[in-house]
Amino acid sequence: MRSKLVAGNWKMNGTRASAQALIGAIKQGLSAIKTAQFAICPPAIYLADVEGLLQGSGIAWGAQNVSSEIAGAYTGEISAAMLVDLGCRYVIIGHSERRALYAESDTQVAQKFGQAIRAGLTPILCVGESLQQRDDGSTQDVVARQLDAVLMLLGISAFASAVIAYEPVWAIGTGKTASPAQAQQVHAFIRQRLAAHDAILAGRIQIIYGGSVKAGNARELFGMPDIDGGLIGGASLDADEFLAICQAAG
Ligand code: PEP
Repeated sequence: MRSKLVAGNWKMNGTRASAQALIGAIKQGLSAIKTAQFAICPPAIYLADVEGLLQGSGIAWGAQNVSSEIAGAYTGEISAAMLVDLGCRYVIIGHSERRALYAESDTQVAQKFGQAIRAGLTPILCVGESLQQRDDGSTQDVVARQLDAVLMLLGISAFASAVIAYEPVWAIGTGKTASPAQAQQVHAFIRQRLAAHDAILAGRIQIIYGGSVKAGNARELFGMPDIDGGLIGGASLDADEFLAICQAAG
């Protein structure tokens, strides 16, 4: 039986003070839910603060990105080892905003995944199609290509301590959510594709959904057989909304 995971992706939002207030409210509300896993991915600059605030709470924290390189002359980059140094458990890899706005290729995404795994982090690998790709019927091809880039570089064993987030690009920050049936179909496809390499691993891996998850739709989405929780963007900035989503996973 897979446990559910709800991870909040704060993106580039907030201040030191607002991060502290949000963590305070979330920590209090989540202490009562013992049946699911939770994580917060703040802007990297606040990770040290978040480490101090979440230490011992049972809530994990992680980063939104990591360098594809191990160390050295890469100005502005943050290595996987540095994230481990700040107590991170997770790192989001290949978010569609990074793929689209920073031109991250499938290969770079796979290299970042490799750095995360080798450092002992749990990558949350984001995959998903654009609206045009959905409309022209290539959702499965796109998701397969994104998964295969990691499989080809690192092999199936790299997924043993990873999470996959199915995030249809057309649903991110748009208020449009994939229906539970639409999301379930892609989640089942992802699990099958991994099962072709290792059925036991595929049965264990958490595949979470992201794209305009709200308190009002979370329970139905998380109730689908292959949806193991959510990656939450906008709604993770509102303590009450995020807590209600987490309760739907508990
Ligand atoms: C995301 O950015 O990962 C995301 C799912 O955003 P939102 O929940 O705002 O659609």
